[in-house]
Amino acid sequence: MHKSKKINIITLGCSKNVVDSELLMGQLRANHVEVVHNSNEPAHAVVINTCGFINDAKEESIDTILQNIEVKKAGLVNKVYVMGCLSQRYRKDLEREIDHVDGFYGTNELTRIVGELGATFRTELIGERVITTPAHYAYLKISEGCDRTCSFCAIPLIRGKHRSKPVEDILKEAEQLVEGGVKEIILIAQDLTYYGVDLYAGRELSGLLEKLASIPGLDWIRLQYNYPADFPVGLLNVINNHPNICKYIDIPLQHINDRILMSMRRNFNKKRTLQLLDAIREKIPGVAIRTTMIVGYPGETDEDFRELMSFVKDQAFDRLGVFTYSHEEDTRAYRLQDNIPEPVKLARMEELMNLQQDISLIRNNSRVGSVMKVLIDRQEEDYFVGRTEFDSPEVDNEVLIKPSKGIRIGQFYDVRITSADFFDLYAEAWKD
Ligand code: SF4
Repeated sequence: MHKSKKINIITLGCSKNVVDSELLMGQLRANHVEVVHNSNEPAHAVVINTCGFINDAKEESIDTILQNIEVKKAGLVNKVYVMGCLSQRYRKDLEREIDHVDGFYGTNELTRIVGELGATFRTELIGERVITTPAHYAYLKISEGCDRTCSFCAIPLIRGKHRSKPVEDILKEAEQLVEGGVKEIILIAQDLTYYGVDLYAGRELSGLLEKLASIPGLDWIRLQYNYPADFPVGLLNVINNHPNICKYIDIPLQHINDRILMSMRRNFNKKRTLQLLDAIREKIPGVAIRTTMIVGYPGETDEDFRELMSFVKDQAFDRLGVFTYSHEEDTRAYRLQDNIPEPVKLARMEELMNLQQDISLIRNNSRVGSVMKVLIDRQEEDYFVGRTEFDSPEVDNEVLIKPSKGIRIGQFYDVRITSADFFDLYAEAWKD
């Protein structure tokens, strides 16, 4: 029995899981339970907040569980608990197949796991959390679940139907974050643009943004996971009218071929995609657009892929992520034959990312000589590393700044771009 009283929370997966871990840590800390995050130190208990979205993520989650069972067998931790999406989706299988786990919890069982860890769930603490990101930025989840039926996606099976958080709770949480020193808030959800449909009988993201933008001390508000179909175009004016809302639109498109988009049940087609992208660029001059694509979807022909390549070439997105199709049981696409061989999927992903690399270099080179505002995230070897308003943490580009007197982490600075790489920029502090 290890004497430590500490609880170690390990977070896997996406930013929504990060928020769930932070809420759990907030409850434990309020109960005076010592809690650490992603630590290798011995502990009384480890809680693994898993991801169960696609194969690679599932494998990583299972590996992490098995590793921690070995740590337990070595006597460096007394209890191993598993929570989150993998546990929500496969609890029965996991309970049957993996021994030495002291409890499996779903994505909506915070009260239960807090109790199991010897603490009392405190409802008055709703929204209070221990921030695990650098202190100057934080994710803010404005809703849970999703009402969409994208054929390839298991998230609605895991996270359930769309539930918006009341505006008052979101504003209170945002104010608490800013009081705590947060300067950048990244709004997240499964489908950000659907906010309010369940609670206020209409799309209320624009109204919410107006209120958030008026919070003193909140320098950057960033939107992630906007859905293209039924996109509330009025939102673009709100983004354009507020200097503290990043001119950055993250909008996963997944593909451009009409037959594939139909099969994916995206309720969107090529013609409307082009119209929406034009509207975004027209309404928000200089906007950065980030999107993600899936390659190797069942039935994707080489022609379909060529169409996707030329679309990405024409649009020259600022930021692009590419995934290979993952054949997920219980999703609608699971009824289709997963007929694109893995090597072909990987080759298509590589070809698309190589194209994006060239696009990104051209875009980055066009920034050389310009002065840009950056937020410093960390210091690494010979550089301070920061981001512009066009870069979300962990997924987008970075700016590497030569050390200069007075630069501090968590602060904004104007820097002059001196050179460019495929994905990163190099800069020096700028004093006009
Ligand atoms: S919008 Fe589609 S892809 Fe995104 S979480 Fe919902 S079902 Fe999944």
